[in-house]
Formats: sequence, C-alpha cells, structure tokens
Amino acid sequence: MGGDAPISIQTMWDSPLHEVSDSILVRLQKFRAMGCDLVRFAVPDEKSVEPLGRLAAVSPLPLVADIHFDYRLAMAIMDYPIVKLRINPGNIGADWKVAEICLKAKDRGIAIRVGGNAGSLQPKHREMGVARGMAASVEEQIGILRKHGFENIVVSLKASDTEATLEANRLFRKNHDEPLHIGITEAGPLVPALIKSTLGLSGLLNEGIGDTVRISISDTMETEILAARELLAQLGLRKGPHVEIISCPRCGRTEFDTHAFALEVQDDLYALDKSLKVAIMGCPVNGPGEARDADIGITGSGDVVVIFKNGTIIRREKLCNAKTAFLEEIASFC
Ligand code: SF4
Repeated sequence: MGGDAPISIQTMWDSPLHEVSDSILVRLQKFRAMGCDLVRFAVPDEKSVEPLGRLAAVSPLPLVADIHFDYRLAMAIMDYPIVKLRINPGNIGADWKVAEICLKAKDRGIAIRVGGNAGSLQPKHREMGVARGMAASVEEQIGILRKHGFENIVVSLKASDTEATLEANRLFRKNHDEPLHIGITEAGPLVPALIKSTLGLSGLLNEGIGDTVRISISDTMETEILAARELLAQLGLRKGPHVEIISCPRCGRTEFDTHAFALEVQDDLYALDKSLKVAIMGCPVNGPGEARDADIGITGSGDVVVIFKNGTIIRREKLCNAKTAFLEEIASFC
C-alpha cells in the first residue's frame, strides 16, 4: 500500500463476528472477485478475537482488526495473521500499552492505521477547525507511534463533510508521505453517499492523494465495493478486466423489469474476470437496437426473455429461467 502500488479497495464487515462459517468465506471470496482488496472487522470485545483470528488464517482476503480502548484486544489479535490494526493511540491508555502494541506489531510485520475523525476530535483539536484539527490529531498520533520506533503507519482523515475531508487530506499530504486511506465517513444512504463520495474522493484521487479507498454507504458491503471499483475505473485508476452494465431506466414501453433483473445479476456480473459490456433493456422492440454496442444483452415481454448479442437475438427463454440462461450465455461469451 502506498508508493506505486495500485489503489486498493476496502470495506468493513457490517455485523459482529462470533463464528467462522462457510458462508462468510464464500462472501469474502465474492468480495475478492468483485475487486475488494482488504476487509476490516471491528473487535469490540474478547469473544471477537478468536473468530477473527481463525478467519484471518483462512480468508481469501487480508483482514484488518479495528480496536478501541482495550490494548489487550490488540495484543491478542496480533497472535493471528491479520495485516493491519486500526487503533487510536490516544484512547489506548498508558504509554507503555502503546509501546507494547508497537513492539508486537513491528515484530509481526503488522501495519497500524491511525485516524482523525471529525466526530471524535478532542476539544483542543476541534478549536482549530475541523480540517486543521483532524490533521493535527493524526500528526500527534503518528508522533506517539514514532516515539516507540514504529514506522509502518497508514493514516486516515475522515469527516462526513466533503469539503472538510478534502481540506484535511490536502493539509496532511503537504507534509507527510504515509499511505492515506481515504473516504467520506458516514456518508449516508446510497444516493447521497455516492454523490458525496464521488465529489470528495475524485477531487483527492485526481490530485494523486489516496492509497486505499472505502466508500461508506448505508447499504451492503458489495455496494461499497462496487462503488469504489466504479469510481477508480471511471478515473482510469483501476486496470484489468472491466464489466460495464448498460441498463435502461424503463419507460411507458417497458415489458421487462430491468431494475429487478439488474439487481439480481449485478454481483455475478461484477465478479467476472473478463471485460464485457452487458445490456439489460426494458422492451424487445427498442431494447436490442438501443443497446447495439453491448456485447451481450437481455430483454423480455410477458413470460419470455430474449438474449441478444450485438443487437441480434440469439436465444429465447421462459422468464423463470432468465437469470440462469443469461449467465450461461455470458459464461460462454468470448
Ligand atoms: S429500452 Fe424500451 S423500456 Fe427501456 S427506455 Fe428504451 S424504449 Fe423504454
């Protein structure tokens, strides 16, 4: 992370982790196929340590432990193969506790992320204004880690306000080289989160600021991953296979529910390891023509769907078989 490494995409697990199950591993595998590089898990108590540790040992993606207040949790989770700790040295307590964490993290090759979050600034930092306060707060935290000889540091400066996030990250980047995890925190439900994050993060990324990205959305983790992946792809910052979905908004001529079908198949499509332009269109009369430049598409009428390639219909199926038939055709498309 950092330097010339590609910008990585991350999300945060959205529920307590009390046991490791096959379904969690399958979901992490799916995240990886969709372009996720890193997943962060909260470790709020002792009973969360062992499941996360066991998961880290078999996970298809590197895992990060997010710990506040209790240094014993940080010490315990580092017995397992996690790649990064997210802590605030300021709330870990006595200096010797931070020193022990630094020593063990250094020994195990584990990075530490420290962060300035607008919502949890100390009064002395808040008085400086949100952006300056966040920058000063992380500088202080970096100073604490460095005092203990620790250098493998990642930094984040996040606010739910776009301007404050931009300003804080620019201020920090002027004087520091540490890899930056960027995001607009608590950005809200899907639409406002996407707009705020696109405006804020594209501003930073276009200036070369940002080494890892999370788009925080009150929605699924898959949606966060897709949002980050799409943003990086649109900015030309993500290389490799790219699936583009063209789907019509529907109108008075709609005979096929494009909204529902796109939702049903999008995770499978975005997990493909090939570049493809896919169309999901609302009517068989206009749809194939409107999506002529798509590699492969689908539309329907009543109980029947049609699958088309480059504007020409190649298959008809019952509506109930639509997803299976469409994914079959995509799998065999080359
Ligand atoms: S494809 Fe058909 S349903 Fe969709 S917008 Fe065009 S005309 Fe309307």
